[in-house]
Amino acid sequence: MMIERVIQYAQTLLKRAVSEGDITVDATAGNGHDTLFLANLVGDDGYVYAFDIQKQAVDATLHRLLDNALEHRAIVLKDGHENVTKYINKQVAAAIFNLGYLPGSNHEIVTKPNTTIQAIESLLNLLKVGGIIVLVVYHGHEGGKDERDEVIRYVSNLPQKYVHVLRYEFMNQKNDPPFLIALEKVKEYSIES
Ligand code: SAH
Repeated sequence: MMIERVIQYAQTLLKRAVSEGDITVDATAGNGHDTLFLANLVGDDGYVYAFDIQKQAVDATLHRLLDNALEHRAIVLKDGHENVTKYINKQVAAAIFNLGYLPGSNHEIVTKPNTTIQAIESLLNLLKVGGIIVLVVYHGHEGGKDERDEVIRYVSNLPQKYVHVLRYEFMNQKNDPPFLIALEKVKEYSIES
């Protein structure tokens, strides 16, 4: 297929943004697929900070890293991504969010507009110029449309001189397919909140 699927395109963007030795963030570790993907990109001198509020997700992510002998490249935190600045004070090359609920788990534990936006804002400050934040927006669940709309409103208003904001979306798919938002920092700045 010539047009990459949303999840594939997310990985393409991460690959472009990340070099060996970089600091990266998986803001919603879930089953750990993106943590593992980032751990492969950062090499032995880089690091992935993975966040999730559910023990099940933290355990699944740790297991996936151990299975691939890459646990030394990641720290998996059982905490909300809105607390990212508690853990990271270095420049970040890339961050990824998968919004919504963890497949196969409690569908009521979902990412929420306020904490998602707070995390994006903190990560924008931590991001290096040329770095990227990728959001895969799942919005079919209860509360998903509100989160989608609030995130869209927030990112649409970011100053274009500093952040390039992309929406990548298949327009003719049924059943609320996920779409992608990418934020590329193009100039140094600091957002006051
Ligand atoms: N919908 C996606 C997967 C989303 S997983 C798919 O179908 O592939 C989203 C993860 O975010 C869940 O594991 C959930 O526990 C986690 N999460 C929810 N709120 C969070 C927060 N504030 N900080 C970090 N992780 C959070």
